[in-house]
Formats: sequence, C-alpha cells, structure tokens
Amino acid sequence: MASIPVGILGATGMVGQQFIALLADHPWFKVDWLGASQRSEGKAFSEAAAWRLPNRLPDDVATKIVNAATPGSAPKLMFSGLDSSVAGEIEAEFAKAGHIVVSNSRNYRMVDTVPLMIPEVNAEHLALLDAQGAQQGWKGRIITNPNCATVVLAMALAPLRQFGLESTIITTLQAISGAGYPGVPSWDILGNVIPHIGGGEEEKIETETRKILGSLGHGKIENHPVKLSATTTRVPVQNGHTGSISVGLSEPPTAEAMIEAWQSFRGRPQQMDLPSAPPQPIVYLHEANRPQPLLDANRDGGMTVTVGRLRPCPLFSYKFVALGHNTIRGAAGAAILNAELMHREGLL
Ligand code: NAP
Repeated sequence: MASIPVGILGATGMVGQQFIALLADHPWFKVDWLGASQRSEGKAFSEAAAWRLPNRLPDDVATKIVNAATPGSAPKLMFSGLDSSVAGEIEAEFAKAGHIVVSNSRNYRMVDTVPLMIPEVNAEHLALLDAQGAQQGWKGRIITNPNCATVVLAMALAPLRQFGLESTIITTLQAISGAGYPGVPSWDILGNVIPHIGGGEEEKIETETRKILGSLGHGKIENHPVKLSATTTRVPVQNGHTGSISVGLSEPPTAEAMIEAWQSFRGRPQQMDLPSAPPQPIVYLHEANRPQPLLDANRDGGMTVTVGRLRPCPLFSYKFVALGHNTIRGAAGAAILNAELMHREGLL
C-alpha cells in the first residue's frame, strides 16, 4: 500500500511527467501535491500540461490542481524536476522549510555536503547529509541525481575502477527528450546532428563523474582521479542517451573479465530489493549492433544501462558503447531510487 505522500516540483515538464508515470503504481510513494510555474498554477494538471508519455495519465493526477512552487501545504518528501534557472532558489526554500528535496537539477550537485547519488555506485555518500543542515542552515535536506548523460557514463565506469581507471573519452548522442518540452525545434533536429548541448553539458559530465566515483572519507568526498574529456551531441532520437567511450586502464584485464565486471555489478538497491532497482543494473549485449535506443532504452522499466561493442582501442585500453534512458535512469527513476534508499535507511 502506497502510504508516503510525495510532491512534485516542475510536475508539468518532461521529467515531472515521468515522475507521475513511474509513481502511478508505486508501493510506498503516492503523488499528493503538484507544483509548477505561474503559467500552470491554479489549473487542473490535465489543463496545465500536454501529457507526452505513452502511459495513461492517472485520473487522480489529471484532476489535481497545480500549486505555486512554494512550501506550505506540500508534503515532506518532494521530487524536483524544476527548470535549473529557478531550481536553485525554490529547492533551497523547500529545504529551509524542512522538506527533503530529491532533485534532478544541476544547481546543488557539486556542493560538498550534497550527495550526488547513483545508489548502486555510491550509496555511502548519503552520509554527507549529516553535515548539510548545519552548513546550509536548512531544517530539511537536498539530495541530487546526476546529469542524464553522466549517469550512463558513471555506471559503465564504476565496475572498471578495480582495473586502475585512469582516463576516459566520451562522445554522446543524446535524445531530444533531454532538452525538455518542446525542446529542440523540429527544423533544427530532423535529419541532423547538433554538435553542441548548452547549459555546460560537457563540464557536467567531466566534473560530476569524478564526484560520483569518488570515495567518502572524514565526511568528505575525495574525487576519483580519472581524467575525463566529453563531447556532447543532440541526435534525432526520442529517448535514450548513447555514449561512445574509450577508457585507459593501468591494469587492463581480458575482454572477458571486463564483461564479467559489468554483468556481475550489483549495489545496495539490489541487496535491499528496492522497488525501482533493476535486477541487473548493467547488461552487456553481445550482438554487434547493440545497444540501440529504440530497442534497449526501456529495458527493465528504463532503469538498466546497456553496454556493448567492447573492443581494444589503439589509443587507450578499450572502447565500447553504453546507453541509458535519460528521463528514467537519467532523471525521474534515478530520483525515485534515491528516495527509496533514503526510506530504507530511515532518512525520510
Ligand atoms: P521542462 O520540460 O522544460 O520542465 C520544466 C518544469 O519547470 C516545468 O514543470 C515548468 O512549469 C517548471 N518551471 C519553469 N519555470 C518555473 C518557475 N518560475 N517556477 C516554478 N516552476 C517552473 O524540463 P525537463 O526536461 O523536465 O527538466 C527539468 C529539470 O530536470 C531540469 O533542471 C533539467 O536539467 C533536469 N534533467 C532533465 C533530464 C531530461 O532528460 N529531460 C534529465 C536529467 C535532468 P510550467 O510548465 O508551469 O512552465
């Protein structure tokens, strides 16, 4: 029985809608409150938002009135899919008022007392929350999930740390849903590739990955020393960010051992059997033409990262391709998994 009421900030957007879809049948969390901009405030959700997902919009959400994005009547646990231009101020206001904000936005990811979580990779980073309240002057807390392309890279790299991960180059092919709705004009993207994504996408991949893969010591994260270089591109794909990745390893294993490291990778969500945890977070596909967004992005409810095309790299140790669903594993699903972990750890 869903018994924990949750609110969604930015409920009308791409990520907000994905929250609604993923929470429709959630065993613990029930959508109780919606918030968005002045454009949507006071309207029923179905009037304020153009529903963009193939899942049916739940009736009880369709008729809910969208609130202003201010604390007051909102429940303690808040998911945020706010536009980053406003997320900084609004999320802090909620944290100050005592809410737990589980955010998708970039604004607080790199703050040293804010956990930047992929629960399979760095569940222990939740301990940063101990120092957050005093540092920020908040009664509540903010925890974040990574940028939608970072999550694919960081998950693919996490099992490779044991082989002396030294350097990584990634070129992404990112879906249009990553730009929100209406996002990139069709005239710009159809039949095209755009070799630039604004908002500091490449810097986010390069900095966030090192924090996520870093280790916790004395209440602080020591960033992973891997050197990273990212090029990001937008491609005419609806959902699923793909990355072409090369890695330099100080102790390169056999290809079979690389594949086994991905296939056997598990984390706390699997040990705790959290409701949104995929049974196998990273799946290696042996077919020469996989992974593909159309065929693989939705695997296990969009929470699995698929990897393929492992081969030796003439410049680095190995190269491969990785793929993940950007609005699920890269956004709403990631945030829900974070909240499930917090619930099980007694932090809600
Ligand atoms: P989006 O479709 O443009 O939605 C933005 C949301 O923010 C809408 O609900 C909008 O409400 C709300 N908003 C805008 N201005 C506001 C204001 N002044 N006050 C209150 N609410 C306001 O964007 P998105 O793609 O869902 O992304 C949301 C966040 O998640 C962004 O920070 C983005 O970087 C991050 N993210 C996105 C993805 C992805 O794949 N799309 C992945 C990871 C992270 P109205 O409808 O009322 O304007």
